[in-house]
Amino acid sequence: MRSVIAQLEASKIREIANADMGRKDVLAFWFGESDEVTPEVIRRAAIESLESGETFYSQNCGLPELREALGQYMTESHPAASVDAGRIVVTSGGVSALMLAVQALVDAGDEVVIVTPVWPNLVAQPTIMGAQVRCVPLRPHAGAWGLDMPALLGAITARTKLLILNAPNNPTGWTLTREEQQQILAHCRSTGTWILADEVYEKLYYEPTAQGCAPSFLDVAAPDDRLVVAHSFSKSFLMTGWRLGWLVLPEALVDAMGKLIEFNTSCASVFTQRAALAALAYRKEITPRVVSHFKHCRDTLVPLLAELPGVQVAPARGGMYAFFRMEGLDDSMEVAKRLVAEAGLGLAPGDAFGPEGRGWLRWCFASKDVGRLAEGVRRLREWLARQHG
Ligand code: PMP
Repeated sequence: MRSVIAQLEASKIREIANADMGRKDVLAFWFGESDEVTPEVIRRAAIESLESGETFYSQNCGLPELREALGQYMTESHPAASVDAGRIVVTSGGVSALMLAVQALVDAGDEVVIVTPVWPNLVAQPTIMGAQVRCVPLRPHAGAWGLDMPALLGAITARTKLLILNAPNNPTGWTLTREEQQQILAHCRSTGTWILADEVYEKLYYEPTAQGCAPSFLDVAAPDDRLVVAHSFSKSFLMTGWRLGWLVLPEALVDAMGKLIEFNTSCASVFTQRAALAALAYRKEITPRVVSHFKHCRDTLVPLLAELPGVQVAPARGGMYAFFRMEGLDDSMEVAKRLVAEAGLGLAPGDAFGPEGRGWLRWCFASKDVGRLAEGVRRLREWLARQHG
């Protein structure tokens, strides 16, 4: 086996969850998904596809009608970009979209810069390709995380092949501003660096905006810029288990990506693509409801957490996580394990997302029943009282 594979660190979130996933008395908020099932119209479309016998391979880059619908969807959110269907490829999940992008762009030994804390897959993927990964940490101020722009721009040189950014960010909720995106893009143009923007949470954005989504690199880039944007049906359509995502690429990369898809998964399954078409057809009913519910979840959880003694937390501008720290409790792994065992509360340890996340915990607030969030906080409050008392 290649040594980088042998040395890959297993997910610390899984380490906490695997030990206790079967326990009925644990309130689990450790994974990044809602506990609400996919809307009926989407499930129905998949069932109808299967019943009509759509059990065959499809085009490498996805059904033409889905690429067309995604082009319209992306253009609706990013009118300045006007995303042509020919720049879209459909993938088997956001994870696969990101891995394909990294496979297409990164050679062994290449330098890749990543802004952390971040969902661990984004660091693992270039590592698997044999890249030299260099992390630039966000900095916390009163519970909210921000970008150290001089540090980031200083880290990106002519030797940097790829910059990977995830905003709105898992786990911190940090979101890039339009001005920051412009500055980063201008700098990467000057160094010849590709940008891989993981924008899977773009619709889960809680600030008022005209297009109903977070600022995107698509809004500021030209169609032939060295920019790849990764997306997913998982979050805004409640479709985590379906494994469907897409990439927006410069047109010159699309044929090569079709080849790579052939050798990775060949294509996404047709019935999930039919489900995706239904998701897009009903987007105006589904996504605003999901987003307003998640906002309600955030606005329920964060003030309750902030009231606890010694807790530092800020409301996330986007995403579906509260990222918080508790004074004097700096070993996140140990705290997360003890919370499961002693309080029946399942959270993800912050150091799963990079060393700067140590001392922090991630709580996924996408809960169908907000009462579960309040019950979780009650358990945490009682556990904290036992530590101090
Ligand atoms: N990017 C980020 C930042 C994520 O948090 C996730 C899911 N946890 C994904 C991409 C991928 O999602 P999926 O593979 O379910 O489409």
